[in-house]
Amino acid sequence: MNDQVIEQLNSLSGSLSIESIKDRLKEMIAIPSENPMAGEPRPGHREKEIGEYYLEQMSQLGMAVSSRDAAPGRPNVFGTRQGVGERPSLMLCGHLDTVPAEGYEQAYCAREADGRIYGRGSCDMKAGLACYLEVVRLLQEADVQLQGTLILCGVADEEWQMIGSREIGLNGPMADQCIIGEPSDLAVCPAHKGQHGLFIRTFGKAVHSSIPEHGENAIERMARVVTALSDYNAELASREPHPLCGHGRYSPGVIRGGDLVSAVPDFCELEIDRRLLPGDSAKSVRQDIEKRLESLKADDPGFRYEISDPSWDIPANDVPLDSPVVRSLLESSQLLTGSPVQASAFPGATDAPHLGSPAVVCGPGSLVQAHSLNEYVEIEQLTRATQMYLHAVFDLLA
Ligand SMILES: [Zn+2]
Repeated sequence: MNDQVIEQLNSLSGSLSIESIKDRLKEMIAIPSENPMAGEPRPGHREKEIGEYYLEQMSQLGMAVSSRDAAPGRPNVFGTRQGVGERPSLMLCGHLDTVPAEGYEQAYCAREADGRIYGRGSCDMKAGLACYLEVVRLLQEADVQLQGTLILCGVADEEWQMIGSREIGLNGPMADQCIIGEPSDLAVCPAHKGQHGLFIRTFGKAVHSSIPEHGENAIERMARVVTALSDYNAELASREPHPLCGHGRYSPGVIRGGDLVSAVPDFCELEIDRRLLPGDSAKSVRQDIEKRLESLKADDPGFRYEISDPSWDIPANDVPLDSPVVRSLLESSQLLTGSPVQASAFPGATDAPHLGSPAVVCGPGSLVQAHSLNEYVEIEQLTRATQMYLHAVFDLLA
């Protein structure tokens, strides 16, 4: 950034209105947008209403707006502030849905106390969405002409199947760089592990349990499968770690088999969770499992198993540390906190790998409060997030 740009950035930072951010955040908390999860989308349990609100806000700020349904009642919404030149585009992206609020008293009455805003969605992630609007408000108010194009993007269904970001990955818009304001406590997270689930099934021969020697027990076979996989984490830990994500992980999560105690079960099913590193794939996971299970046939010629297609499949995310958006966020974080800042991995999986644009996670609020029955965001983090996003906008687009 040259001196003139820095001066303009500082001037806008000085005009930042925390009241405006808080008002937008409280208004958004008051619009229930629970993910319907496996149920039907319906008022309060879909993104339609919050999507309309966000479109209206972006439109009032002079953005060219549009929306596209990822499923009926479940829109992705977009706002574009066109640049005057050919410089890169930056997308500020966040999901519109929240997790359900069952058991959360007054989840949609936004409350301000102790320097925090409370309510469902306050940190995950309507705070990020509110900060994006303030960035655009500041640019609009000062009539700033940017070379590059700024895109705001509200996404459906992050909390379940991520149909919103998958749709954007297919149909755009694409951006040169993207920030996702998921609650990272404003840590700059260019990478995260992927989440991969699948079923392993074993088969047997059902007979009356009084003569088990005539049957083949699918549960006992599954016990051997579990044992065969018991050193899988040790093997993953022995592989080359990713600099930010560390090692992959394996966890057997759900097991089902048999339906009558007086019968030898002919079927058993185990669902496993595998946390992937950048570079891991469905194919490599399957190979790891097959390598362990094939050897079980030596002692049990009737041993038969099946590995399902992925029941859950979110790839890992990995944006280079030297990419402009990562460098810019690290720099502004360091400026604002006055201490050295390192990039880190985001603990959870996000929309990032689906978007088709390189995306870094950095947002206000903490994952400790996200999804809890006492969700909040620190107001100080709303200010700092907006300053960091504004810094990135000037750094990348001015
Ligand atoms: Zn989230």
